Amino acid sequence: MDDHQNLLRKLPAVDRLLQEEVLANLLTFLPRRIVLEAVQETIASYREAITGRAGTSNNPEAFDLSPAVLAKEAAVLAEKKAVPNLRALINATGIIIHTNLGRAPLPEAAVKALNSIAANYNNLEYSLDSGKRGSRHEHLEELICDLSGAEAAIVLNNNAGAVFLALNDVASGREVVVSRGQLVEIGGSFRIPDIMAASGAKLTEVGTTNKTYLRDYEAAVNENTAAFLKVHASNYHMVGFTAEVNAAELADLAYRHGLLLIEDLGSGVLLDLEKYGLPFEPRVQDSVAAGVDLITFSGDKMLGGPQAGIIVGRKDLISSIRSNQLARTLRVDKFTIAALEATLRLYLDEEKALQEIPVWRMLTAGEGVLKTRADNLARGLSKIFGAEKVSVVASVSKVGGGALPTAELPTWLAAVKLPEEGMHPDKLVEKLRSGRPPVILRLQHDTLLFDPRTLFEDQEATLLEVVGKAYQTQS
Ligand SMILES: *Cc1c(COP(=O)(O)O)cnc(C)c1O
Repeated sequence: MDDHQNLLRKLPAVDRLLQEEVLANLLTFLPRRIVLEAVQETIASYREAITGRAGTSNNPEAFDLSPAVLAKEAAVLAEKKAVPNLRALINATGIIIHTNLGRAPLPEAAVKALNSIAANYNNLEYSLDSGKRGSRHEHLEELICDLSGAEAAIVLNNNAGAVFLALNDVASGREVVVSRGQLVEIGGSFRIPDIMAASGAKLTEVGTTNKTYLRDYEAAVNENTAAFLKVHASNYHMVGFTAEVNAAELADLAYRHGLLLIEDLGSGVLLDLEKYGLPFEPRVQDSVAAGVDLITFSGDKMLGGPQAGIIVGRKDLISSIRSNQLARTLRVDKFTIAALEATLRLYLDEEKALQEIPVWRMLTAGEGVLKTRADNLARGLSKIFGAEKVSVVASVSKVGGGALPTAELPTWLAAVKLPEEGMHPDKLVEKLRSGRPPVILRLQHDTLLFDPRTLFEDQEATLLEVVGKAYQTQS
């Protein structure tokens, strides 16, 4: 008889495992289906390990097949399966708009609005004035126009969709002129040449990678030209000898030729960054004032709201976009409208926007405050790792998310240098990722770095708890 045949026979059955106390307990609060799946998968993984070893192992005792051992493993697996796949986590990277981490966390006001709209009926497409059918687009337009100075606005699913629809509506089958310095790729899947091809517009490249002049645009104009497109290079920065045409000059040229100017602003900044010691970033209202016909931007980058693509501009153009068949495929739901309206309302009072929109609170956090918070974190971390391994170091935070690519915001980090003989840094980082909640941080060689800039104050105690637990369970 083969060793592994013997072992397989010894594997406990599903029903036997379910009788173990640890699993019986789980069954009182987890769906039976989840516990059952975990038990079956645990048994299957043992079966595989045993048959995988056939012929190589002379030591059947290496497998502990007692029901208690398997039940414990199955319980861990069941608990893991019971946690939602999409879940809240702690961002200690200092990267404020992190696309992988869900971009902008919403202000409290937006969360409240979401709660109320989610759980109740609402006037999404119903006019409370007339008692007749209304339009979902009306809830946001006035507010966006008020903040941006634009004539009209429409909100769509995301900025990629906004650029796509704007091009499709005004330039399908016709030419759109773009500087070679602005044929960008953002986030791996948004590429200007591709989005343009998909929209039906024909791309005409002008200028060179580093320099494009007004005369380049002018020379490209022919009877089939519909528009100029200006794209904000939001995730890279060119240094050296560069030349770009500004929005006002380009708008003027477009006007003289009876063409349109479309601008993809990327981030959607409504406040003057330089006022807060941050690098210049064009604001939506500056592009409106410069005479750009259609301007598109994201809702969840520097605006600090939910995912959305906002188009502002000329009334006749926006109204044509609204009645485009494709607008329906990109339309926003009641949750986006609720969260975006609440976020935008905060901008009506700049002080409020700075204090209550997390992205802006993080962007403008003072160095003194960050230092104090890093000191506090370091004190907590010292209790876990020992004071000699913990320090507070000056560093920089990044804005991230295709916004202010070169901006470095001075910050202070709590740093933990891991001892060589202890847990491997990668292992600890992995354990932090599976923490409850997960903690995401920077790892530099053997040093863990925690940036207080992206931590909410009420997360600091939880973070220390998760780190303590991860470090103490050595396995
Ligand atoms: C981020 C970005 C986009 C894509 O916006 P989404 O809202 O993610 O669809 C498009 N253009 C520019 C310039 C961007 O920065």
